[in-house]
Amino acid sequence: MQVLKFGGSSVGTTDAISKVIAIVKARVQTKPIIVVVSAMSGVTDQFILLGQTAAQGNEGYQTMIQSLAQKHEDAVLALLPTAQQASALSMVKELIQEIESHCATIFNEGIFSLRMQDCLMSYGEILSSKIIAAAFEAEGVDQVWLDSRSMIKTNSAYSSAVVDRALTNQSIQAYFTNPTNQHALYMAPGFIASDAAGHTTTLGRGGSDYSGAIYAASINASILEIWTDVSGMMTADPRIVNNAKEIPRISYQEAMELSHFGAKIIYPPTIQPVMQAHIPLWIKNTFEPGHPGTLIENASPKDNNVIRGISSIKDICLLSLEGAGMLAIPGFTKRLFDALAKKQIGIILITQSSSEHSISVGVSVQDTHLAKIAVDAEFEEEINLQLLEPLIIEKELSIIAIVGEQMRNHPGVSGKMFSVLGNNGINIRAIAQGSSEKNITAVIEAQDVHKSMNLLHEAFFESAYKQVNVYIAGAGNVGSKLIDQIKKQANYLQNHLGLQIKIVGIANSTKQLINTEGIDVSHWADELAAAPASSIQEYVAVIVHHNLPNSIFVDVTAHATVADTYAQLLSHSVSVVACNKIACSSPYVHYAKLKSLAQNHHAAFLFETNVGAGLPIVSTLNDLIHSGDTIHKIEAVLSGTLNFVFNHYAGGADGKTFTQVVKQAQDEGYTEPDPRLDLGGTDVMRKILILAREAGYPLEMEDTVNESFLPAPCFNGSVADFYIELEKQEPHFKQLYDAAAAAGCKLKFIAKFEKDANGKATAKVGLQHIQPSSDFYHLYGKDNLVLFYTNRYPELPLVIKGAGAGADVTASGVFADIIRAARV
Ligand code: ADP
Ligand code: ASP
Ligand code: MG
Repeated sequence: MQVLKFGGSSVGTTDAISKVIAIVKARVQTKPIIVVVSAMSGVTDQFILLGQTAAQGNEGYQTMIQSLAQKHEDAVLALLPTAQQASALSMVKELIQEIESHCATIFNEGIFSLRMQDCLMSYGEILSSKIIAAAFEAEGVDQVWLDSRSMIKTNSAYSSAVVDRALTNQSIQAYFTNPTNQHALYMAPGFIASDAAGHTTTLGRGGSDYSGAIYAASINASILEIWTDVSGMMTADPRIVNNAKEIPRISYQEAMELSHFGAKIIYPPTIQPVMQAHIPLWIKNTFEPGHPGTLIENASPKDNNVIRGISSIKDICLLSLEGAGMLAIPGFTKRLFDALAKKQIGIILITQSSSEHSISVGVSVQDTHLAKIAVDAEFEEEINLQLLEPLIIEKELSIIAIVGEQMRNHPGVSGKMFSVLGNNGINIRAIAQGSSEKNITAVIEAQDVHKSMNLLHEAFFESAYKQVNVYIAGAGNVGSKLIDQIKKQANYLQNHLGLQIKIVGIANSTKQLINTEGIDVSHWADELAAAPASSIQEYVAVIVHHNLPNSIFVDVTAHATVADTYAQLLSHSVSVVACNKIACSSPYVHYAKLKSLAQNHHAAFLFETNVGAGLPIVSTLNDLIHSGDTIHKIEAVLSGTLNFVFNHYAGGADGKTFTQVVKQAQDEGYTEPDPRLDLGGTDVMRKILILAREAGYPLEMEDTVNESFLPAPCFNGSVADFYIELEKQEPHFKQLYDAAAAAGCKLKFIAKFEKDANGKATAKVGLQHIQPSSDFYHLYGKDNLVLFYTNRYPELPLVIKGAGAGADVTASGVFADIIRAARV
């Protein structure tokens, strides 16, 4: 015989039930089968709410009964041919009347006991199984409805009764060995049973799986199939980990561990009876019946997977007993466990400190209060004698577990688990490893579950890909180009570097667009425009709250408010990639703090485009320093803007004024939003300062000398005022040009960093006459040129030259930093 169990979602709608009927009919022709079904999805919860409503004296409970009646009557009408509907409808009606009468009692007494809750909940499974049985009968299948209450016998622990296996075996076997009970199909409600007094009991939420296993073990079935809404047991809960993969084969032990630590796909007690009877257990998908699903069997498959799966339990709390006198208390551990067991508090995990001055147990959060009272009462005397502290409770925690039988033969699994978590800023509150070495569990903060599960999944199952979550701040020129570049390059990065880059956030100064599944970048601009108002602080709060693994914040703005958020982001292990120069040119202590935050929280803080747009200037400097070189001098044209301006300004000889050239530079996207930052030299000061700092010299902005060529009145007022003033100053610019031309020179704005003979570092920026013999003379367009004089390049410098401004090259520099950050 075979046992097939269909869960709530498989019988949740009439469409789903039709699929169930098709699956069973195809099978029934070959072998007799027992079909165990759950209540239609959501119905068990509705019964609990119904009882609670009635007990509160709220007459609204009657409407709730009506809607439950309607749901089941609709199922009858949809599933049965007209001729058979009447008897099924009257069956439903009768059951609804019983429910009404129970609810009337609850309403009058104002009490909803656990015994009554079991009684009420049982109607969910009774209704679904009877309706489906009627549907099979209408199809002409030789079937009989089995009352699981008379088959499965339990104690009287209502709501999660313990099955008396011996008695249950007897009653089930007695039934099936009786020659008058031979049918092709037996329809049985899951979840429900009865105690010695004949009261209805239930086997715990999700318990229909267990009913299936009990039937299968009692009749020694050839197979147990659990039909649900996913194609098998997966490497992680697919609602938490998008990339979770189906597990084709798994051992009973591994499946038991995964379900014990939260994999809802199977109710934990289910495995034991089938394991004992060596019955193969399959998990199958009602909505994709052709999919092989998962086979749960004796041995763990001998493949390359050291870890079979990862699971998590939300809402646990950690109870810790501590005290210097603990060792002196005889039978201490037993008393602790007994005190909890007496109150039926399930222990999910145990850890003991090596000094044995403390022991902690993880329990479900709803048991906390009861546990505190029970344990403090048990140890009242010892607490009074100050041998022990009262029970310490830590809440809002979760458990994550990695499971696999092979891990005992592979050293380094726990090292990998904890370094992955630690490197991503996950705080581990407690650790436990089963003595059988089939699992390693960690207690972490509840808010870190999603991130931890995804990180561990990536580390153990997705060696092929690393998921990277990118949040962009700034949706202007550079931001738009960057989004385009990421979109075009996504496949390449996945195939060649194993990086799955997802843009999950795009924000400008007033709005934010978020999608943790990845924004569809073909319409981002429209979607952002339609998004609700939000500030940059709110954006960052959302990023921190999401707590996604491998998050990178990309600042393509020039705003101080955005730069102010880096510390918060880095301290949450979010990497920061900035083309915004404000943070790195802020007071040295702040720059240094950001760098150390990045290091301490294993995040990257990268800002290649702070200097020379996409040119590899900062990275080259870093490579020199990291490999042991020393920088003595840097000479550079670092402003693509100024180079553009002085390359295009001919003292007015071609009819173009200085103002017109500046405007052209701005129109072509080569200036900061306020061009004075470029023309006034501040931008170049920031750049040489950043290079000096990266070279290891703790300079401040004030240490940098700026020989500005821009007359003082240009700095007054708005950008529009500035352009008006610039017109007036044309003679000044013409004079600068003419003086240089008369000397056979070009004008270039040069930045210079130098260490003098006494080791004193100085930085200076200013306009200079450049002779034709200089490296800087032949520098055209918006190009930058940097000369590094170092120990290894003492006389002939290391030279970097190329376009140093423009949205495209800046975006590509930012992109390169994103890739570097992703590979940290
Ligand atoms: P049913 O109603 O069929 O009993 P459940 O909702 O109890 O179904 O269990 C199936 C659900 O379990 C899946 O939809 C999935 O979201 C969840 N789940 C949690 N962990 C896992 C896992 N490791 N593998 C597969 N599914 C899982
Ligand atoms: N109907 C019950 C519940 O919702 C049992 C089950 O679905 O397995 O918990
Ligand atoms: Mg279930």
